[in-house]
Amino acid sequence: MPESNGTEFDFIIVGGGMPGICAALAAARHGVRTALVEHAEALGGDASRLVRRPILGSDVWGQRPYGRETGLLEEIRLENAARNPEHDWEKWDALLEEWTQREPNLTLFLRTELGAVEVGEGGFLTGITTTREGETFRLTAPLYADCTGDGELGVKAGADTRTLAETRTETGESLAPETAPAADPAFRPVHRLLGEVVLTENDLREGRVFEDEVAYGGWPLTEDWDWNPEDAERRADLWLPRMYGIPLRSLVSRNVPNLMMAGSIASATAVARRSTGVMGTGATMGQAVGTCAFLCKKHGVAPRDVAEQHLWELQQTLLKDDAYLVGRLSEDPNDLARFSRAVATNKLEADTIPSNVINGLTRPTEEWPQLWASNPKNGFPTNVEIDFVERRVIDSVYLTFDTGLSRPLTITDDENRQAQMVNGPQPETVRDYTVLAGLTTQWNPIVEVKGNVQRRRSHHFDPIRVNRIRVVVHATNGVDHARIFEVRCYRKRE
Ligand SMILES: Cc1cc2nc3c(=O)[nH]c(=O)nc-3n(C[C@H](O)[C@H](O)[C@H](O)COP(=O)(O)OP(=O)(O)OC[C@H]3O[C@@H](n4cnc5c(N)ncnc54)[C@H](O)[C@@H]3O)c2cc1C
Repeated sequence: MPESNGTEFDFIIVGGGMPGICAALAAARHGVRTALVEHAEALGGDASRLVRRPILGSDVWGQRPYGRETGLLEEIRLENAARNPEHDWEKWDALLEEWTQREPNLTLFLRTELGAVEVGEGGFLTGITTTREGETFRLTAPLYADCTGDGELGVKAGADTRTLAETRTETGESLAPETAPAADPAFRPVHRLLGEVVLTENDLREGRVFEDEVAYGGWPLTEDWDWNPEDAERRADLWLPRMYGIPLRSLVSRNVPNLMMAGSIASATAVARRSTGVMGTGATMGQAVGTCAFLCKKHGVAPRDVAEQHLWELQQTLLKDDAYLVGRLSEDPNDLARFSRAVATNKLEADTIPSNVINGLTRPTEEWPQLWASNPKNGFPTNVEIDFVERRVIDSVYLTFDTGLSRPLTITDDENRQAQMVNGPQPETVRDYTVLAGLTTQWNPIVEVKGNVQRRRSHHFDPIRVNRIRVVVHATNGVDHARIFEVRCYRKRE
């Protein structure tokens, strides 16, 4: 048995594809003792070195402006692009393992098969039996997530599922079959786990944003997981005009109260799953489910109660962790930068103004770029300042940089697709920067970074009294000016 802190956890995830990895990272980083159980010898599921599929998502190979997923998936993709420009699957595999192994609260069980599942009173899951190299061991937790891609955990737990496609009369979906399809005995059925909400083609076409939105998608309704520029006309009927929201109620089993699900088995019709089932979208669900596990633990409640009582906290926590939610902006009352003034001595264009770094949005919209960009004429170093007006004590600064969200970014064997990407650090991203703390006329460096490739950086330090902070950009990974979406400042509450 692998090293672990015993066999009791706060949260057990079965399935180490992109949804399972993101669920595990999100939960573990928030202090949830998490087990990730994967029966293959490599992480990544369909995007592992064993299957080698590219991670598709809302950007639709760069055809939806600013469409790429942010949050944990973006972090992994950026790191891979910088370390692995040659698209080597062994390096990708090593990165996924490193990212999970380095989290102190995460125990990874590779080559570990799910066996029996224990269900207690009220339909609650109480434990699972797993087998690794002939050895059987039991893992228990108050919370579980099925990220298996076929619903095995849910089926064994007695969760309500659906395998066959819905008919048009049942759902009103234009792409659904007229008559009920027969089960095909040649294929092992893929179960979709049912939640209180079952996403339909119509929800996706409307770009519906649910009140309990915690994830999002935007891949077209294709059956062949392929989309090329010429498809824009040829298959226009499959294109989704907007990104859509995914509600928490489609990620929580409707009859197993402590079971969540993420990825292609989430609660959606067979037609909607053509879009919700791609791995980039599954990764956003994974981050949502892992963050929901954190709030379940924090408040001692079940996932359904998070949807009813702690939804705002869940959404705001996701945004703070650089996830994106369609149409929602940061309203974090603890972010001191929001109640300050942002100033800079220069800007690129009339709308790339410094106040964009505290406006709560971290990707461009059709109307507004939502970031501060410096004027190249001013060269480097260049800076943006947060003026708190009065004295504050802060102990952390969060920065969000531009990483070119309109370009595709995924590991792939397809050389034409590789040519569409920047295989290395993304040129828009700030590379070298310092953060200075200002008190009256004194400026002291509190953060110094060289060689950054990430979109989101968070810096924690001993509490310091300030009335201003200054983010000084010394260099980027390519472009001739600085680009910053967001600056957040916090003082940890006791
Ligand atoms: C032909 C085809 C092509 C596709 N092409 C693409 C593509 O190019 N890009 C894309 O994004 N999507 C693609 N899709 C969609 C996507 O790959 C599938 O939906 C896929 O199953 C992803 O699901 P997932 O992310 O939920 O989990 P998966 O990637 O399937 O991960 C599930 C993980 O759980 C593990 N697991 C399963 N059962 C157990 C168990 N009992 N115990 C322990 N571990 C377990 C698996 O080993 C796996 O690692 C394609 C689908 C098909 C059918």
